[in-house]
Amino acid sequence: MRTKHWLIVLAIVAVVSAALIVLSLGPRVGPSIILVSVDTLRPDHLGCYGYHRDTSPALDAFARESLRFEVCYAQAPTTRPSCSSIISGFLPHETQVFNNRYALPAGLTTVAELLLQSGYRTLAVVSNYVLIGGSGFEQGFEFYDDQMDEVELIRGVPERIAEHTTNSAISLMRLNRKDSFFMWIHYQDPHGPYTPRPPYNQMFVDSALEPIMLDVNEEESGIGGIPSYQKLPGQRDYNYYVSQYDGEIRYFDEHFKRLIDALKELGLYDTALIIFTADHAEGMGERDFYFAHTEFVYNNLIHVPLIVRMGRDLKGVSKDQVQILDLVPTMLDVAGIVPGTEYRGTSLLGEIPQERTIFSEMPGKYALIRDDLKLIYHDDESGYKLFNLAADPAEALDIIRDAEYGSRVKWMAGELAEVRKEDFLRGRVKSKKPRLSREEKEKLKALGYVQ
Ligand SMILES: [Zn+2]
Repeated sequence: MRTKHWLIVLAIVAVVSAALIVLSLGPRVGPSIILVSVDTLRPDHLGCYGYHRDTSPALDAFARESLRFEVCYAQAPTTRPSCSSIISGFLPHETQVFNNRYALPAGLTTVAELLLQSGYRTLAVVSNYVLIGGSGFEQGFEFYDDQMDEVELIRGVPERIAEHTTNSAISLMRLNRKDSFFMWIHYQDPHGPYTPRPPYNQMFVDSALEPIMLDVNEEESGIGGIPSYQKLPGQRDYNYYVSQYDGEIRYFDEHFKRLIDALKELGLYDTALIIFTADHAEGMGERDFYFAHTEFVYNNLIHVPLIVRMGRDLKGVSKDQVQILDLVPTMLDVAGIVPGTEYRGTSLLGEIPQERTIFSEMPGKYALIRDDLKLIYHDDESGYKLFNLAADPAEALDIIRDAEYGSRVKWMAGELAEVRKEDFLRGRVKSKKPRLSREEKEKLKALGYVQ
């Protein structure tokens, strides 16, 4: 009897152990991934990128404990095309999201879908109206929070302010803390009109600066003056607008601090992959282009911040040229997913190739960057322009006719034409212009996206 009793005990122990082994093997899921993107954020208006105003103390502290990339390019100067590259790893002409009127095609496989398939919980909190559910950006997310209760002061377009975006992100993190999750948080605050609430609206107003009076444009364009949607009552001074843009960044930063504190409290700060970037930047008067984006592929619109944290050891400043196309390969790398497709980008946690070509585009305007040279091609006007970014980071001096660069220009022009024709998705994705309701049309019109 005694032997039989022990055999039963041993059998139970064996079954329980086997069950525990199966449970522990489970689906093999990597660390949580938090992707923070901020709309319309210029790196050179952040302290960690050398700005003279104290716009970003929390972000600067985060950057000191992470790897900050000096030179990161967005693949487009507009929200939807750029976010299509952030979330899929392909160029806008491949995702077929050419501007904010195009939905993200259902046939496109996003990083959210890949992570969901491999066992991640997938969550998003978006705050820009062009990313609302139905825009296609929700695909792959189990929970897509696009609630926008505020209305922008000037345009009347729904948005969500950083306080509420952060509240939602923190609640979702708490709910999912026991699982590995992917969370995309997109903040909207620095996007115009620049209307920070008190005290941020006064924080950077500098009465010692000589006013620089600008014209107000009748249209949304930023060429030659203040875009109509940016017009602040009674204000035409360039310096005032910059102070309000900076105030929006500082307001966002206060809530970014709360996000980081929550990550620390939940034990995610040292274990999760945390990526901070922007979808595009903003013109601040360069080439007489003010307080807008969407219209060019110059660096003031496509140079974006990028800060990556993965554990305590990944720290410092990198001068490698990187791009937002590198984000999907980085996330898949951390998740342990071997891509079943070819990407142009490379994981930021590995060796960054030194000889690389970076491409950025919008309809009719294209940029190709190789080493220190940047070639820009405009379909409809002067054709090619060439800039030496090392000697002329502001792209002020066009050196296309400089004989010294003749053979490089020829090679770069060939590459630019080649990339424009390339399709890593092999035609699998078809563009889809959504049918808009009258209300949506009116809101997009107010944003300047629908003529
Ligand atoms: Zn944007």
